[in-house]
Parts: sequence; C-alpha cells; structure tokens
Amino acid sequence: MKNSNQNSNHNSDWSDVFVHLDPQAQPNYLNAIAHSARELSAMFTTVKAPYSGLEPAKLNEKIMAMPIGKTPIAPLAEIITNNVNLIGKNSIIVQHPHCIAHLHTPPLIPALAAETIISALNQSMDSWDQASSATYVEQKMTDWLCELFGYDLVQSATNNGADGVFTSGGTQSNLMGLLLARDRVVEQTSGESVQKDGLPSYAEKLRILCSHTSHFTVQKSASLMGLGERAVVTVATDEFGCLGIDALKATIADLQSQDLMPFCVVGTAGTTDLGAIDDLQAIAAISEQHNMWFHVDGAYGGALILSSHKDRLAGIELADSISTDFHKLFFQPISCGALLIRDNHNFKYLLHHADYLNRETDELPNLVDKSIATTKRFDALKLLMSMQALGTDKFGAMYDHLISLTQDVGALVKATDKFELLAQPQLSTVLFRYNDLITSGDVSTEREEQICMINQRLRLDLLTAGQAVLGETKINGYTCLKLTILNPCLQLHDFESLFTKIADFAELQAYTK
Ligand SMILES: *Cc1c(COP(=O)(O)O)cnc(C)c1O
Repeated sequence: MKNSNQNSNHNSDWSDVFVHLDPQAQPNYLNAIAHSARELSAMFTTVKAPYSGLEPAKLNEKIMAMPIGKTPIAPLAEIITNNVNLIGKNSIIVQHPHCIAHLHTPPLIPALAAETIISALNQSMDSWDQASSATYVEQKMTDWLCELFGYDLVQSATNNGADGVFTSGGTQSNLMGLLLARDRVVEQTSGESVQKDGLPSYAEKLRILCSHTSHFTVQKSASLMGLGERAVVTVATDEFGCLGIDALKATIADLQSQDLMPFCVVGTAGTTDLGAIDDLQAIAAISEQHNMWFHVDGAYGGALILSSHKDRLAGIELADSISTDFHKLFFQPISCGALLIRDNHNFKYLLHHADYLNRETDELPNLVDKSIATTKRFDALKLLMSMQALGTDKFGAMYDHLISLTQDVGALVKATDKFELLAQPQLSTVLFRYNDLITSGDVSTEREEQICMINQRLRLDLLTAGQAVLGETKINGYTCLKLTILNPCLQLHDFESLFTKIADFAELQAYTK
C-alpha cells in the first residue's frame, strides 16, 4: 500500500515529460515543439554568417560550462531558448549561401515536418510489431527507388526481383553492398558460409576493385569485413577522374595472373571531390564477364536519376547493388540513405534468426531481416513526404539548376583575378585555389608549397572567423579549396560576393607578406 502510494507520487513528478494519450496532457508536447520551432525560426532570421565567428576555444568553454544538475536547471521553455541561443547560434548554418564545403545539405521543410512525426511516433524499423504502417512505408519507398533506378521488382527465371533497405547513409550502404558481395563469392567458390564459419582459407586472395578517386569507405568496409584495406585495389582513372576501363581490364588480368580473386568492382556515380561519374555500362559488362559483383556508390550522383542528366547513370540498373544517400542531394535531414539490390535473394546473407524479433510463424514482415542495424529510425517517411510535397519534377529541376550553376561558377573562377580553377566541374563541386602569385611566372616547388599553405590557412581562418565554410582537399598532390554546391536556392551572385569576400579577406591577412 505504502509502495504504490510512493509510486503514484513519483509518477506525477515525471508524467508531464512524456506524450500522453490523455487529452489534458497534450499541450506539454505541443508547447515544447512549437516553442522549439518558433525559437529556431526566429534565430534563422538573425543569422548573418555561416558561423558566428566565436573563437572555437571560447565555444568549447561555454558548452563545457553548461550545467547538468540533480534537479531541473530551468523550465523546459527556458532550456529550449538557451540551447538555441548557445548551440543553435554557434552551429554551422547550412542554409547560409557561403556554407558550401561538403555534401551537407540545407534540409527541406516537408522533411523537417516529417522528422517531427518520425520522432514522436518513434517507430523502430526492425519488426512489424514496432513499426506497423512504417514497415509498409519503408517497403513502398524502397520499391519506388528500385523502379526509379531501373531495377525489376518482379521475379524472373534468373532473378528474385529487386529489394532495398533504408540505412544510415552511404557508409553503411557501401559496407552492406560489399558484405553481400563477399559472402556470395565465398558461397559460390567453396560453398562455405562466412556468416556461420567466418572467412575461408583463401580470404587473403579476395580483391575489390575501384578507382583511386572512389570513396574511402570502400577501404574502410574491406577492413571491417576482415579482408584488410590491402584487399582494395585502386584502378587508374582517366583525365576526368573516372575509373579507366582499359586499366580495369588490365588490373583484373594482372590479379588473376597472380592467382588472386577479384570478386567485386565498385563504380562511383559522383566522386566526392571531382564529381566524376564512372562508365557504369562498361563496368557492368566487365563485371558480368568475370562473374564479379558490381556495386555502384551513388551516394552523391545517384540523385541525377531524377534530372535531365539521367543518361549519365546509364548502366546503374545492371548493378548488383546501389548505395543512395538522401541526406545529400535529396535534401533530407541527417540521417537517411538506402541500399538497393537487384536480386533480393542476396539479402539472405544478412538474415539471422532472433527468437524475440523475426518469428517465422507469422506472416508479418520484419525488416531486420535485411539490415545490419536492429533498432532503426523511420527515415523513409521524410523521403515519402518530401516527394509528395514537391513532386519528382521539382527535384529534377533543382539538380539541373545546380549542375548549370556549377558550370557558371567554374567559369567565374576562371575569370576572377587571383583565383585558379583546378578541374573542370562535372557535377556540383568546384576545385580551385587562391593564388595571388599567379602572375609571378614562378613555378618553383617553394612557390607551390607557399600557395598550398596560404590556401590551408585561408580555409581555416575563413571558417573560424565565420566568413565562409569552404572545403579543402588535394588534387594532384596540391592543396585546393572546394565548393560543394548543394543548395538549390543559390544564384551566381552569391558566388560573386563569395570570391570578393575571400580575396579581400586574404588581402587583409597578408599571408604572403
Ligand atoms: C558521402 C559519401 C559516402 C559516405 O556516405 P555517408 O552518408 O556520409 O555515410 C560514400 N560515398 C560517396 C561517393 C559519398 O559522397
């Protein structure tokens, strides 16, 4: 009796911090969400820079000093306001025109609305009894994506039909694609199951091929898969940074002559720096000829499937697996990605029976069967709602705009004093550098090193001063700056002002003096 009294006392203490089915309690939820949205919305209207310019050490100090107490430090509304003021205002503002470094997108409003629904419903995608309608939504979206990329959902004599699963992004999708490839080749070669028995005796012979400009997660996946990074053989690229087709053929022949086993080729649809799109059709033919798994990393350029540049992805429908990322060119809040596979039979390598989750005795689908995650977010809803709200044509038009804008920005760099364009843009990145020594005619190594150093300092100083968030990478061994143009609201004049800002800033810092 005494105990139950104590419980009910405690309950009244914390019941107001949960969403309740009791109509009386609902305003707490509504107020908290509405207040957060209002505060953020107001904050966005005051933002003048992509970063506040607060010195990083000061920011760290302020965050470390934030209290966490045994009791509430303030009413929730005040906590929300304070966090928006400190964390929000000192965030990297992805909506700012001069926040342009990475494949890091301003999120779509319909997707932000969806996030509110996703988080409050808190469905978990592993089993139907945690995600009833959500399971069907994810399946609907992966079906839709399979068809969009030209996969056949219907079973044929040689194929069980395509399928897919939502992932946390390109890293997880690439790992999964390569994992399926590894397990298939081992089963085909020796009838062994990597899943049950671990790597086979010949594991050190297995090789994955990709271009040397492909994403580092190929190497990372190989290492996680127990094959080691040395299992990844990088193939030379052509002048555009695309995987060289003749080089691929030669590399396969060379590996085979050493009694090694190339079992998978990764084609990239949009490399992170150059935006290069490999010749997927040619790679598909070579993979087929050698019975290799063909994985396409479409994390960046896969979105072009909705654009007028869709032909550049020809052959993607022949891939055994495709990684797509929605928190990049699909403008979704992080995280959101998918792995699609041409033959759903291959998901069998991920199936593990757990008594408490995938009961084969009922007919209900449990998506854990095709995932390396267990508890998993209902991210499919935001892609669905975004597609419903905008329609696919608008996505295509945004990609067309980004691609033509990027060409114009490339031309602008070329035409602007003290800037050098280092590669012809292919997708939506611009590789360039600031070079106020451009007219000196000096091509010495010292001068090159000096320019690299200037560009490194320039990027860092522009970032911490809150002037611009630019990317930095290397091309042919030299440091360069990178713009990744992912914000479809930008126009050419945003870049005119950016280059003026960079040049003025560099002048003021007098790096070369
Ligand atoms: C971003 C990217 C990845 C990694 O994806 P995440 O979503 O960051 O995990 C893989 N490949 C390419 C080509 C990418 O651009």
